[in-house]
Amino acid sequence: METKDLLNGLKEILAEEQINTNEEDLYDASADRYKKYAKVRRVLDVPSPKAIVYPNSPEEVSQLLVYCNDNQINVIPRSGKTATEGGLENWKEETIVIDAKNLNKMIKIDEYNMQATVQAGVILEELEEEVRKKGYTTGHSPQSKPVAKLGGLVATRSIGQLSTLYGGIEDMVVGLECVFPDGHIARIKNVSRRAGGPDIRHIVIGNEGSLCYITEVTVKLFKYFPENNQFHGYLVKDMDTGIKVLREVMVNGYRPSVARCYSEEDAKQHFYHFHKDRCVLIFMAEGSKEIAEATGKGIENAAEKFKDRIIEKVDSELLEEWFENLNWSQQDIDDEFEGMLENDSHTGFTTEVSADWETIPKIYDNVIKRIKEEYHRVEDLTLLGGHSSHSYINGTNMYFVYNYEIHCAPEDEMRVYHHPLQRIIVEETLKLGGSMCHHHGIGKFRNEWTKEEHGSAYYMLEKLKEAFDPKNIMNFGTIYPQKEGKKFQE
Ligand SMILES: Cc1cc2nc3c(=O)[nH]c(=O)nc-3n(C[C@H](O)[C@H](O)[C@H](O)COP(=O)(O)OP(=O)(O)OC[C@H]3O[C@@H](n4cnc5c(N)ncnc54)[C@H](O)[C@@H]3O)c2cc1C
Repeated sequence: METKDLLNGLKEILAEEQINTNEEDLYDASADRYKKYAKVRRVLDVPSPKAIVYPNSPEEVSQLLVYCNDNQINVIPRSGKTATEGGLENWKEETIVIDAKNLNKMIKIDEYNMQATVQAGVILEELEEEVRKKGYTTGHSPQSKPVAKLGGLVATRSIGQLSTLYGGIEDMVVGLECVFPDGHIARIKNVSRRAGGPDIRHIVIGNEGSLCYITEVTVKLFKYFPENNQFHGYLVKDMDTGIKVLREVMVNGYRPSVARCYSEEDAKQHFYHFHKDRCVLIFMAEGSKEIAEATGKGIENAAEKFKDRIIEKVDSELLEEWFENLNWSQQDIDDEFEGMLENDSHTGFTTEVSADWETIPKIYDNVIKRIKEEYHRVEDLTLLGGHSSHSYINGTNMYFVYNYEIHCAPEDEMRVYHHPLQRIIVEETLKLGGSMCHHHGIGKFRNEWTKEEHGSAYYMLEKLKEAFDPKNIMNFGTIYPQKEGKKFQE
């Protein structure tokens, strides 16, 4: 289809000002933070989309999807643009980006029923500020909270820094509205629980724009008691000890909002003012006075049980201060881009996996050992470590971090550095039965392992795609491996 014809079709659905064909914006829309360095150095190897469109209603989203479905045009849904795994990268010549910018209404803050309904383009921090004025919190606090929007947060199955108390987004979403490629608008109603067949919210949560477009979300609210927050921190002998303390807290039924253990290397970059070359264990207890106090006591009891391997306590004020400066604003993201341009480098990458308590220390050790032994550019690594930041009754996650000096052409960076390192992490995780992807989504660059991740249950994932997106127009290459996309990966 000629670009001119494609744009004419869009003009029949939307007003001119809802269609953006500015070249710079299209270049920006052709990739996300996965190829941030190549993007800033202007050496991206993917096509730009033909237009970015800003629908004003679910009905307009529906018309756009029908148009794309009828004409085999690839659609990339977009909200806050903080994707890290290639979910916003374009692999097709004929593509449009449907941006949630104009779906920006806060529809209802329902204090009595403890839920808030917003459109997909509402920034999480703006919702959070609104509900805090009334004494509530959403409990969702990813580091990208100042920029990420509700549509993207639901689409990626995101998780926040307070997840050990409040859960991931999947525990917060009450109901939602979404639009499928055939134009059908589906509304999942807001109820406290139901047993009306399988939980269809989970078809939408985490679909990464590969099945449908999310237009509206209702999330739970919680009472907010910041005055009761307690911070507890310890320097511990090793990761194994830190993870054992985390487990002790969780299996005894305590739910601190923050529960984290950092390797020595990772602690150095986060806690330069107190790490003393040791692993760092941190907790935050929150809630009503009685709950926060009981949780604080549970944390102290768990630490006491492992006192032989705990080196010292950390001043809680240092932790509070650190926590307050953790989130990334748009300014931080822009500064990072400037920095990459000026210094010809960036601060590195991460891969997040999960497994049960028994397995996670083994994955950690195996990954670090394998990278040190076999990664061909090991001498370029300036940091290799990780932290556990989200714990559950039966296990935890591991957020591997690796920084490196870039000694290759910018367009080769991912192939030379990030991807081979990620490959080792994913392979070691899958080998021991863990999940290769804890919260950033599969995007386009972990899709080579989607089948292995799901094993015999991949059948179910594949059927969803066949049923809801039979013409494969939704976010080509995201989650689902595609032969035609391999050239952008290798
Ligand atoms: C500095 C920084 C810190 C981060 N911290 C965290 C963290 O703590 N926890 C965490 O989980 N993630 C984190 N992330 C990753 C990212 O913020 C999350 O994945 C977030 O949920 C993406 O939301 P977004 O609105 O920016 O979505 P986008 O980046 O716009 O899109 C992300 C994906 O969702 C799809 N999508 C977007 N909107 C829709 C829609 N309306 N309907 C259907 N599909 C859609 C896109 O196609 C894409 O695949 C971080 C990222 C950055 C840059």
